[in-house]
Amino acid sequence: MAISILGSTGSIGRQTLDILQSEHLAPGAPVLKVAALAAGASNLDLLSQQIVQFEPELVAVPSDSDRESLRASLADYFKSGKKTEILVGEEGLIACATHPAVKTVVTAVVGFLGVKPTLEAIKTGKTIALANKETMVAAGHLVNELAAKHGSKIVPVDSEHSAIYQSLEASILKAQAAGKSLEQAGEVEKLLLTGSGGPFRTWSEEAMARATVSDALKHPNWSMGAKITIDSATLMNKGLEVIEARWLFSIPAHKIEVVIHPQSILHSAVEFVDGSIVGQLGLPDMRLPIHFALYHPQRVPSARVPRLSLSELKDLTFEKPSFSRFPCLAMAQEVAATDDSSACVLNAANEIAVDSFLKGTITFTDIARTIERTLSAHKPIKAPQLGDILEADRWAREKSVSLVAV
Ligand code: NDP
Ligand code: MG
Repeated sequence: MAISILGSTGSIGRQTLDILQSEHLAPGAPVLKVAALAAGASNLDLLSQQIVQFEPELVAVPSDSDRESLRASLADYFKSGKKTEILVGEEGLIACATHPAVKTVVTAVVGFLGVKPTLEAIKTGKTIALANKETMVAAGHLVNELAAKHGSKIVPVDSEHSAIYQSLEASILKAQAAGKSLEQAGEVEKLLLTGSGGPFRTWSEEAMARATVSDALKHPNWSMGAKITIDSATLMNKGLEVIEARWLFSIPAHKIEVVIHPQSILHSAVEFVDGSIVGQLGLPDMRLPIHFALYHPQRVPSARVPRLSLSELKDLTFEKPSFSRFPCLAMAQEVAATDDSSACVLNAANEIAVDSFLKGTITFTDIARTIERTLSAHKPIKAPQLGDILEADRWAREKSVSLVAV
């Protein structure tokens, strides 16, 4: 079976390739061929190493000059007769997402950039190993409509959604067999979406107002790309995950409860109508949900995923989140209950605000303020189609850029 990775040089992309290295496969694990890789321009050296190691048929980079740099660093590779086509821009990214040999596309680019290639991959009936949660946030209903139409399976990579998916699998299959949604099937009381609380879990509002970029980048449990690490500090990540869960599992937002669990061992759970809570546990290591998504529906042995030993666990604690100290979570939960373009606007404003914070243009608490002001200036469009989503995203970026520049 062949796979494609969009964002191969990032945190999720690198961990995906780590699992797939032949010397890392457990005995009996099927070999997955890497047919296509796409990446940005910030780490072309790593991309060229990945190409030498995995010999993909197709690679995509953002621009012609990136292609030239990559070709130059791969001179020996091409001289030895290897054949890898290198495409550029959005067209290249979409070609990687729709490569005919590929069965599963790992969407590991960050941000709204993932929307078009993911939708195109779905239209060709591929399985989506979905890491790029921003696509589900901005265009969740389109993803669901197209996936149903083209028989494309969406398997979450996000650890919480992987945990919920694993806890719900029997119910999902039963509901599908009965031609019902999970909500209509009536077995689920609520989804319990856990989160570590991030580096500022115990910080006061005053302290957070003075937080530096390096404070916000110190995640207690997970090592991830910069954007999602800042989202984890504002708890916007958990808010985006509520919206992601709402579309992935077709469950109304009021049935999704965020629970803070600082140890990140219970990756999320489902409470059923009879009172049973079923969850999934593991060490905080993304290779576990990535491995699950790559091989789904099979359970395949893993040589790379570190094992959790229950008898060595000390405390597992749970608490309610603070919506007043983390206004991003409150905004996202409100937006999750809507069916309009607000989620797309929230996502775009967040991308601009996080980028500005990382560049030192705004403070940590300005992130929430920028999103709030962008959202309140937006006139939501009901059941937005792709054109509406692209326009809402463009508008929200322009609006929030003007706000962060003030
Ligand atoms: P990173 O920032 O580490 O990686 C992003 C990837 O996208 C890089 O390979 C980057 O390339 C690539 N990229 C950037 N611009 C382009 C472009 N124009 N064309 C093609 N590729 C491009 O992000 P993460 O891996 O942390 O996150 C990826 C997604 O997964 C996000 O949506 C995140 O929310 C989600 N996720 C991540 C988790 C994690 O543990 N990291 C956990 C759960 C979800 P380069 O940097 O080389 O320019
Ligand atoms: Mg997550």
